[in-house]
Amino acid sequence: MTDLRCKLLVIGGGPGGYVCASRAARMGVDTILVEGNRVGGTCLNVGCIPSKALIHTAQSYHHALQQAAGAAHGVHVSDPRLDWNEAGEWRNDVVSRLCAGVTGLLERSGVKSLSGWATFRDGKTVEVRGETGVTVIRAEHVVIATGSRPVDLPGLPIGGRVLDSTGALALDHLPESIAVVGAGYIGLELGTAFAKLGSKVTMIEVGPRILPLYDEKLTRPVRRRLDDLGVELMLDTRVTGWDEGSSTLNLLGGDAESALNVQHVLVTIGRAPNTDGLGLEELHLRQSGPFLEIDDRCQTSMRGVYAIGDVTPGPMLAHRAMAQAEVVADVVAGKAAAWDRICVPAVCFTDPEIVSVGALPGEVPEDIKAVVKEFAFRANGRALTLDDVEGFVRIVYRETDHLILGVQATGPGVSELVSGFALVIEAGLRLEDVAATIHAHPTISEAFQEAALLGASMANHG
Ligand code: FAD
Repeated sequence: MTDLRCKLLVIGGGPGGYVCASRAARMGVDTILVEGNRVGGTCLNVGCIPSKALIHTAQSYHHALQQAAGAAHGVHVSDPRLDWNEAGEWRNDVVSRLCAGVTGLLERSGVKSLSGWATFRDGKTVEVRGETGVTVIRAEHVVIATGSRPVDLPGLPIGGRVLDSTGALALDHLPESIAVVGAGYIGLELGTAFAKLGSKVTMIEVGPRILPLYDEKLTRPVRRRLDDLGVELMLDTRVTGWDEGSSTLNLLGGDAESALNVQHVLVTIGRAPNTDGLGLEELHLRQSGPFLEIDDRCQTSMRGVYAIGDVTPGPMLAHRAMAQAEVVADVVAGKAAAWDRICVPAVCFTDPEIVSVGALPGEVPEDIKAVVKEFAFRANGRALTLDDVEGFVRIVYRETDHLILGVQATGPGVSELVSGFALVIEAGLRLEDVAATIHAHPTISEAFQEAALLGASMANHG
């Protein structure tokens, strides 16, 4: 048994954990990071990065197929071919390069990394079981950054040909057919990618809509694109069973039972925080369901024990974990820091992409009179030159003073606009500020300025 001491112990090496550890160490805090699996966490290894690499492969192949089917603006392509193994090697290479980058960052920052699974003995003592034995670490501050895992559907356990997102991203073959259970963003992203690569995709959703967090208008272009791709969408439908032998998925939609013959089932019904198996029972931390409650310094109900990322209430997104990580690192380094962010941008890498930051029209508090302005991409020059005019940018603003409360968009490449939308909201800008900012022409971002111009008071312009 080895005994170690440090000022800061971070459990989990995902975007929350590695950002927290490296930032704290660079400020001179004696820091240990413990990771049971692979540094980079869900995001780099089995989440954001490999899924976006798969989406890129799918989009490239689909585009080539479309061009082969008929010359698009003079470009002729013949016989596009997909090599699934090569695509997988490229994806793994992207993941490896980023993970190596994180390992290098931790080393350069002076973080001591330890491989193994951590459990609490008490609020300041953690036991780590790794291949080299047991290490006991005593730390002044401990950060729980243990992330999340896919949720199983009762009666449909992961295994065999029933996959979670991790299994789907590691398949050694392209499925001939796949049923995606759950039409949230992960299911839609992966389902769309498989459809573009040539799988027959059926999306099954127990609720009446895809992406239920967003309004119907925002998700309509995605539904149209799913139709174009031949994806069958079964709403208000629940899975009642799976027979692996006959490859049959049993379904119930309304009162009607049906059976679907598919090679694989992909379950994407949500994720659960990794708060069990950590020995937290003895700590009696305040919880909100399975999530750890935190204050504005990301401290749990126990002094010196912090939680960040997917284990805390809020959207399970890598950039939220990273922003929380910065707060904790600063607090532990003795700086006056607290969570003061107004908004967390969200992106669905669907086709077309959907982004949202701040309030949706239906989320504005009742005592605020809000106005909505939208500008469609069919009137945007850049969208026309990209031959991709589906979608719009929408601004939600306060009527009295034109303060921007929320921005949503769906359309070509809007994922690259959302950080600018977030800046506008964080900076407390008004419609007139966006309207008066020169947006380069011809760009997709001009649709944001155009939406602002629709409501901006010209008297305040400039
Ligand atoms: P994680 O990244 O989950 O890292 C936690 C780490 O802790 C893991 O490496 C785990 O092994 C380790 N750990 C757990 N328990 C212990 C223990 N007891 N001891 C030691 N180590 C432990 N988010 C986005 O923002 N954008 C996207 O496009 C996006 N796409 C996604 C696509 C998919 C398919 C999936 C599954 C997720 C996606 N996400 C995306 C979500 C994103 O991956 C998570 O929000 C993010 O990784 C959370 O970071 P984290 O640091 O909280 O936890």
